[in-house]
Amino acid sequence: MTHTIVVLGAGLAAAPVIRQVMRNTILPSNELRMIVVTPSTHFSWPIAMPRVVVPGQMDFDKVFYPLAPTFSKYPADKFELVLGAADLLDPIGQTINVSLNSGEERVIPYNTLIIATGTTAKDNMPWKLLGTIEQTRRSLQRLQSDIAKAETIVVAGGGLTGTETAGQLGFEYAKTNKKKVYFIYNSDLPLMPPIQQNVRKQAKTELEKMSVVLIPNTTVSKVTASENGIVLELYDKNGATKSLTTQAYVSTTGQAPNTRFVPLDMLDSHNFIKQTTTLQAEGFPNIFVLGDVGNLEGCKAQYAESQALHLIKALPAYLDGKRMPEYQLNTKVFYGITLGRSRATGQMGNMKLFSWFIWYLKGRTFLTESGSLIAAGKKTLTTTFESK
Ligand SMILES: Cc1cc2nc3c(=O)[nH]c(=O)nc-3n(C[C@H](O)[C@H](O)[C@H](O)COP(=O)(O)OP(=O)(O)OC[C@H]3O[C@@H](n4cnc5c(N)ncnc54)[C@H](O)[C@@H]3O)c2cc1C
Repeated sequence: MTHTIVVLGAGLAAAPVIRQVMRNTILPSNELRMIVVTPSTHFSWPIAMPRVVVPGQMDFDKVFYPLAPTFSKYPADKFELVLGAADLLDPIGQTINVSLNSGEERVIPYNTLIIATGTTAKDNMPWKLLGTIEQTRRSLQRLQSDIAKAETIVVAGGGLTGTETAGQLGFEYAKTNKKKVYFIYNSDLPLMPPIQQNVRKQAKTELEKMSVVLIPNTTVSKVTASENGIVLELYDKNGATKSLTTQAYVSTTGQAPNTRFVPLDMLDSHNFIKQTTTLQAEGFPNIFVLGDVGNLEGCKAQYAESQALHLIKALPAYLDGKRMPEYQLNTKVFYGITLGRSRATGQMGNMKLFSWFIWYLKGRTFLTESGSLIAAGKKTLTTTFESK
């Protein structure tokens, strides 16, 4: 009887697993096949989005790669791409209901399920895919158009995405006095632990050098549209409130896991899937969980990658009925933070990295030169697979 492996998602975590498992395990077998479910016809490279939102800086084809050229090479009896979003998982009956992009519903039975559905950015922001590629592109175009027309731009949220985006917008507009760029974050310094103080201070200094107006220790409590633009209500750590009007509001206030289809008892209190140290869903050994959607490690490409590499190695043994080996947590501390188009900062372990080093590694191209290979599953951030 055929064993069906269903993969939910085709992002950073899923892409190498799909290709390597297809090539090494499914194509040589007569008993296995794979179904990939994703609402988007394209892979997305979120890492470059802080530059993409700046109009004219980076074309969409540098960050969105069609899946068809890779997937169309696989024989139809071994591989199927289903365009739609998982909307109900029955882990006992081993089925997944999919809301197809065409509007219909389809129930897909599985023997093994790999959930790699990632996260969605809050406030419907296009940092990650927003459903279909068309929806994501439209949202990005709207944001770019708001930014192009704006006199003032507000970036809110002091994490990696917010800091990098404030840097990209600051370089393009504030430094050159073309537009005012505000950056609101709710602590003393941009970024957050485990990023250490000297790296965070450098981010602050570089943003100030570009004339970005920093508003620390402050939270956006309300966003309303008015005739003059978008009115933001702000409150600071002492409880004082004020308002700020802008024509472009760039929210980077966090992300939520794409787990609405997962039964509640499989989720932790933040709605991430409870993931064991063998990368399985707690209580369901035939369900694997990879990348941002799982609760074992944080939402970082480096974790998505190391979990994918582990599963690629371990899956053949699991399919032979053997025990899954333990996954070793990725404990490497590495951050690369771009600050405009010529400066950067970063951290490896507890060592602050030189600006030029991170600029060279990440800031020049946001690693887009590897995008098509990563989308095709031929490469991850650190590993290039042998081509078979
Ligand atoms: C702006 C930005 C910059 C970043 N920069 C860095 C960085 O410099 N370094 C770093 O380590 N990390 C960075 N990250 C984090 C990194 O992008 C994520 O950790 C990585 O994308 C996680 O990969 P994933 O495959 O788990 O999820 P995702 O990339 O979110 O992919 C999820 C996939 O699931 C699909 N999907 C969603 N819902 C469903 C559903 N219901 N059914 C089926 N499919 C579904 C999506 O279409 C997509 O294909 C950054 C993130 C952002 C947003």
